[in-house]
Amino acid sequence: MSAVDTAALKRLSGAHHWHPFTDHQELAALGGPRIITHADGVWLTDSTGARILDAMAGLWCVNVGYGRRELADAAYQQLTDLSFYHGFFKTTTEPTVRLAAKLAELTPPGLSRAFFANSGSEANDTIVRMARHYWALKGKPEKRVFIGREHGYHGTTMAATSLNGMKVMHEQGGLPLPGFAHVMAPYPFEAQGQMSAEAFGRLAARAVEEKILAIGPENVAAFIGEPVQGAGGVIIPPDSYWPEINRICREHDILLIADEVICGFGRLGHWFGSQRYGIRPDFMTLAKGITSGYVPLSAVMVGDRVAETLIHEGGEFYHGFTYSGHPVACAVALANLEVIEREGLVDRARTEIGPYLREKLEEVLDGHPIVGEIRAEGMIGAIEIVKDRRTRERFAGGGKVGLMARDHCFNNNLIMRGIRDSLVFAPALSMTKEEADEAARLARLALDLTAKDLG
Ligand code: PLP
Repeated sequence: MSAVDTAALKRLSGAHHWHPFTDHQELAALGGPRIITHADGVWLTDSTGARILDAMAGLWCVNVGYGRRELADAAYQQLTDLSFYHGFFKTTTEPTVRLAAKLAELTPPGLSRAFFANSGSEANDTIVRMARHYWALKGKPEKRVFIGREHGYHGTTMAATSLNGMKVMHEQGGLPLPGFAHVMAPYPFEAQGQMSAEAFGRLAARAVEEKILAIGPENVAAFIGEPVQGAGGVIIPPDSYWPEINRICREHDILLIADEVICGFGRLGHWFGSQRYGIRPDFMTLAKGITSGYVPLSAVMVGDRVAETLIHEGGEFYHGFTYSGHPVACAVALANLEVIEREGLVDRARTEIGPYLREKLEEVLDGHPIVGEIRAEGMIGAIEIVKDRRTRERFAGGGKVGLMARDHCFNNNLIMRGIRDSLVFAPALSMTKEEADEAARLARLALDLTAKDLG
């Protein structure tokens, strides 16, 4: 693509394209968006020919890396054989059924059925409807409240935004909807203080129990959490947290929703975060890594006790999307899961490339004046940026320094994300050691430049 095309596309973009999560004035001041034209493995190429190391796997989704022939072939074959058919009127397609069965095999026992949608947000909206309907069928229609967490992210539809624990999102559009409550996140770096990690995990779980008791368990439908909170800043809970949440949900008869949109499909070095932490969910939200982002697809894995009730006592559930279980998306998902299995990418994330990347970052950032912590689980992690390493004092500006560091990464052809004052990474599970070395080198450069800017 020529430089002239780039300029023309930027002009067209400025006039016509509404970007997600973007300040358009800021974007215009920068001269418009960078236009990505190709990608292979962990490398993106932009319209000027620059190569960019994508340490975010797109939006935490390209788990097998870009440019996999098998996935493109599966899409082409399915488009040729049967480009579309749906599951509404007592019909289905082969890839849809095969994927549902495969997901039932891979997810923890007791989650036997998959409902398909197109995005994580839609999947979470589906769960809100299913859970309320379940309690109504159980004769407890007043059990309607959902409890989410600060820094939780579950999407952008009205219900998903209400589940989120993000104030800036709630302020736009008069959210949350009634019937959504929030509790503290198990965020040790910010809140643990002098307490042991295990004690802090129990304290954060106790906050959930206290909220349930305050609302009244008879009014609470479900608790939702990401095993590791992703978009909230890669918040890794102490190991004591989730077993307590299991207990609390069982004891108070509250459904437990594991939002595995980021954590699923090997990101944490296990097929699912629920397996890493021993979570026993009634619902699991899946998206992103299900197709490695090659085409849109999401799924709700429905726990057997809920499914049995809805199916045997509920009659028709008036819910579904035109593209629920789209055969092309399901065929790509099956090819994607085959790559993950064949190449052992889940184990690789846990035992090989995940620990390697973390050690490399620790090595190159050892003693760095503005690095307060490096944490990671499998192939997801964060570098906390602080003013004072010892006291963990933050810089003033409420997250501006994280964005400065993110911009230094971007300008040096590394993609990491700035979330509050942290740099976050979640590269493809197929990343090589040389690429991990390069990511660590560029992260160091970006943090050096950030420290220099701060004087
Ligand atoms: N849940 C989690 C944990 C996510 O990280 C996201 C997106 O980042 C979503 C849900 C929403 O998914 P989507 O953007 O596909 O609607």
